[in-house]
Parts: sequence; C-alpha cells; structure tokens
Amino acid sequence: MKILVINAGSSSLKYRLFEMDTEKVLAKGVADRIGIGNSFVKHSGKKEVIIEKDLPTHEEAIKVVLSVLTDPEAGVINSAREISAVGHRVVAGGEYFTESALVTDETREKIKDIIELAPLHMPACLMGIDACKKVMPDIPHVLVFDTSFHSTMPDVAKLYGIDYEDYKELKIRRYGAHGISHQFISEEAAKIIGRKHFKLIVCHLGNGASLSAVENGKCIDTTMGFTPLEGLIMGTRSGDIDPSVVQYLAHKKGWDVSQVISYLNKNCGVKGISGVSSDFRDLTAAAAEGNERATLALDMFSYRVKKYVGAYAAAMDGVDMIAFTAGIGENTPEVRQRILDKMDYLGVKYDKALNENCPRGEVVRLSTKDSKVLVYIIPTNEELVIARETLRFAK
Ligand code: AMP
Repeated sequence: MKILVINAGSSSLKYRLFEMDTEKVLAKGVADRIGIGNSFVKHSGKKEVIIEKDLPTHEEAIKVVLSVLTDPEAGVINSAREISAVGHRVVAGGEYFTESALVTDETREKIKDIIELAPLHMPACLMGIDACKKVMPDIPHVLVFDTSFHSTMPDVAKLYGIDYEDYKELKIRRYGAHGISHQFISEEAAKIIGRKHFKLIVCHLGNGASLSAVENGKCIDTTMGFTPLEGLIMGTRSGDIDPSVVQYLAHKKGWDVSQVISYLNKNCGVKGISGVSSDFRDLTAAAAEGNERATLALDMFSYRVKKYVGAYAAAMDGVDMIAFTAGIGENTPEVRQRILDKMDYLGVKYDKALNENCPRGEVVRLSTKDSKVLVYIIPTNEELVIARETLRFAK
C-alpha cells in the first residue's frame, strides 16, 4: 500500500511517498514558492529533477507533484490511483483532536475553528488539505496533529496559572508542538529499552526546539505551550520570557502586540543573541573562531535545555533515558556536550570521544555502561509516523 505524506506551508508543499509494506520512501520533494513567483518543484524519485513552473495555488502544486510522481522517467508510480491514502501534518489540534482523524466536513470545520491557535501555520495547512482533497477526492485523507501526543499531559502541566474560567472559556492552556517527533522517539526508545514502563526525556533540538517528559510512553509535560514560542531558546524564538517584556518592548519601540510577538518569534533566540545566525553550523564555526556572542548563544541554548532536563527528572522522580533528536540534537556535539557535562547528580556518564565523532543518521548510544541514565541519539522520522497513522485509518 502506498501512502503520500503532505506537509503544507504557506508557500511550500513538502511530500513523501511511502511503500508501507517496507516503510521505504519511494520519492520525496517540495513544491516551493507557491503563489509568490519563481515557483518550482524539486523532486527526488527514480531520478532527481527540478521543474520550474508557475504555481499560483496549492492545487496547482499538488497537480504538478502527482504528474512528476507518475512521470515515466522521474516518477515511481504508474498512476495516481496507486496512492491509497494521504496523510496531512497539522500543527495544532486544539482541544478537539487528541488523536489523528479522517478529513470530513465535520473535522474540517473544527480545523477552521482552531486557526486562531496557530494563525501562521493553520491557514496553509487547510489550503494543503483542501487542494489534495480536490485533486484526490476518492481516497481517505488523514489529519495527523503535532499536538496529539501531548494531549495526555495532566492538568498540573497543561494549565497556566491564570483564571480557571478563562482557561475554560478561551481554551488558553499549554498544547505543545513537535508531538509527531516526540511520539516517534518514544516508540523507538521503548524498543531500545525493551519494556513499556520507563521514564524518558526527549530533546527535540532543531530550529524549533522542545523537550518532553514521557512516562510509560505517555507525555506528561512538554516545553512548548499555547504556541511554539514557549520553552527553550530556539533558532529565532526567545522561548520563556516574562510577559511584561511584551508591554515594555511595545512601549519602547512603538510596536503593537502583534509586532512584538513577531519579533519574539523571528528575531530573537540564538540569532538575536549571537548576531551571527540562527543556524548552529554558523554558530559553532563562529564560536570556534572566538566570537563571544556566538559562544554565549550556544551556552544559553544548552543551559535552558539542561534546566528543563532537571525539571523533568524532578517531575518524573528520575529518568531512564535522555534522547537527542532533530537537526541540532543529531548533529551538534558542542551542544550535547554542554548539556550532558556536569549531570553527575543524575549519574549521567557518556563517551565524549564518541559524542564528538559519532556516525550521522544512526541510532547511537552515548552513555557508558556505568551510566545510571541511558543517553541516546535517535534520528527522528516524523513523516513515517504520519504515514503509519494514515495507514491505520486507511485500513
Ligand atoms: P531542523 O529544524 O531539525 O532541520 O534543524 C535545523 C538546525 O539543525 C539548524 O540550526 C542546523 O544548523 C542544525 N543542523 C542540521 N544539520 C547539521 C549538521 N550536519 N551539523 C550541525 N548542525 C546541523
């Protein structure tokens, strides 16, 4: 059975086609610059091609994606009818969606209702869903949410210290994000540990970054909140900040609240601290050349992660495994070292030489035999989770 996974952004549409018997990726690519000119589709299937074509809408984009997937030279299927179902990544599920769901008129209306929770991402998501449904109307389309995995958080972790009536009426609470990745890592960790009952801290460290505390496979806390702005310092996001700063910035800079929130999302984090870049490859290079603000950014990023690891070990009364994943978690030893050093209180011991020179794209055990806590690098695979969830519904 073949399943197409779609991740739609406002001007892009990423796709991946899976053969689910083997869970192998047959083809992947992206339709980029949709609606903003100079658009193209970059495809990697039987061969790699770039198709430059005007893509005014997501519907046009998915049509071109289907034509390249079925292209005799670059494609991997003979006809779009070979696709049995489509899985859509959805950033926010609000309080409606605690697990994946089929696209129906009813679920679509609910999605429209929660646009306010993620106004930057949800409209694009909806465009992607509508476009794919229009072009492939006869197969199941499945919504897979980045928030579902966090829906098991207890009230003590998910509620803010605000008036409870406001939470009830306005649904202001912590939803988390990156749940698809946290779920994948939890499932992989369970396989490694070989039992269901264990305490895990997942460090998803990418351009967006979040930690989760997972007890017996269920999320009990995560660092992102009402929106992905809360928690860790990220590539361009500030993470946790005193809300009074919002008022002060607005006052001092003459901005409205939206401008301040946009600043906290796009101009802060390690990019703002370092003045160099949001990309950790640039940061580590600059720090190695003696750039003090780049070093400060790496230190601050890692310190915030370390602090949350401590918080989650406390919340779970211990931890059996710390797992690193995503771009930085998998590829930046300087950050892992800063986090893992001086974790003696937890009994963490790890192989420093291996940390610096570990193979990329593989599961790696960093902890030594005498470590009280397992430390692993586990490459994430969000698309595979979406494909598996879609298969579950398609069946
Ligand atoms: P993600 O959002 O998961 O794609 O992660 C993006 C971040 O991972 C960027 O800050 C990159 O600098 C970092 N990253 C990705 N690949 C590497 C690499 N090979 N070496 C160092 N950092 C990397």
